Amino acid sequence: MEYLPDFDLLRPKTVDEALALRRENPEARLLAGGTDLIVNIRRGIVDPKAVIDITGIADLRAITSTGGGGLRIGAAVTLAEFLEDRRLADDYPALREAAAEVAAASHREVATLGGNLCLDTRCLYYNQSEWWRSANGYCLKYRGDVCHVAPSGTHCFAAFSGDLAPAVMVLGGTVEIAGPDGGRTVPLGEIYEDDGAAHLRLAEDEILTAVHLPATPHAAPRWRSGYAKARVRGAIDFPLAGAAIALHTEGRILEDLRIALTGTNSCPILIAGTERLVGETIGEETAEKLAAMLPKQIQPMSSTFTPPGYRRKVVANLVRSLFRRLTEAS
Ligand SMILES: Cc1cc2nc3c(=O)[nH]c(=O)nc-3n(C[C@H](O)[C@H](O)[C@H](O)COP(=O)(O)OP(=O)(O)OC[C@H]3O[C@@H](n4cnc5c(N)ncnc54)[C@H](O)[C@@H]3O)c2cc1C
Ligand code: SF4
Repeated sequence: MEYLPDFDLLRPKTVDEALALRRENPEARLLAGGTDLIVNIRRGIVDPKAVIDITGIADLRAITSTGGGGLRIGAAVTLAEFLEDRRLADDYPALREAAAEVAAASHREVATLGGNLCLDTRCLYYNQSEWWRSANGYCLKYRGDVCHVAPSGTHCFAAFSGDLAPAVMVLGGTVEIAGPDGGRTVPLGEIYEDDGAAHLRLAEDEILTAVHLPATPHAAPRWRSGYAKARVRGAIDFPLAGAAIALHTEGRILEDLRIALTGTNSCPILIAGTERLVGETIGEETAEKLAAMLPKQIQPMSSTFTPPGYRRKVVANLVRSLFRRLTEAS
């Protein structure tokens, strides 16, 4: 890996200061834990003249209860910090389970929630050293004009591989975004696009400042949620595929269900059509119906070492087994 090139390190103390620095340095990149960004800088994938470190902004480092019993988690809260938070373990198990599966313990000490949700997409032909990519003629995500995964097309299929996004999505989480024209709060899914070269709908001068998790219904006792992930190296690895499920049952009857996936597309996706299963009696047939919903909504490509067909099977099995785990006590 190459040496870290020179850049200016800017350290705002407030969100307003960070926004002003963003305005003054349009080519600067936001830095949180740096576990993704610094690797990409060293690989020459990004070459910022300035980096804005947002981890000194107190408002982004807090976990606070909101009116009505929800939770606001600042974007710069580290995964280790929020794994220690009791409220997360009790009320939002899917998010806790997903956070515990990110990278390794040392990464989680600095890796943040915001950085995880804004993670760049990944591809076998992109997350490589400069000499590797230049020898390969680069690719259209950065500096090149051909996609090595789908050479006849003009679309990038690099995969989104963050573990936390599907968990936040099934829990009904929204994200708070600060920008020069003020703030907005939107469902997490709205900040993504299924395009590997431009998967984030955040403007260059916007900052994701927090995630809001609603108190109910997902924190109610009859709601259950969880996360399951498949990866090549069990100790530390990005997901080949990851699935989060939140569901609500009355006895054996399914009252509500949400499923979201990561690793299969260029953005995390909330599976459409699960409402058709509401009212069904839970059983093996329900698990099969869920698995049958996936093929048309996912698009794994040859962007990882493992073939797309394998990832299709893996994600269906993750969904089946997670659904069984969450419903076996009903
Ligand atoms: C060996 C290794 C293994 C890994 N394994 C996993 C894994 O299993 N699962 C997984 O999900 N990730 C994994 N990662 C990626 C990364 O460690 C995590 O996703 C981490 O949570 C990223 O957070 P960060 O704070 O370090 O992000 P940073 O590297 O600081 O930032 C990531 C990106 O988000 C942008 N950004 C950061 N904060 C904000 C914000 N508040 N608003 C807008 N943009 C922002 C940055 O500009 C940058 O583009 C791995 C990384 C490595 C090196
Ligand atoms: S999918 Fe194609 S364009 Fe995108 S990073 Fe991979 S090789 Fe490059």
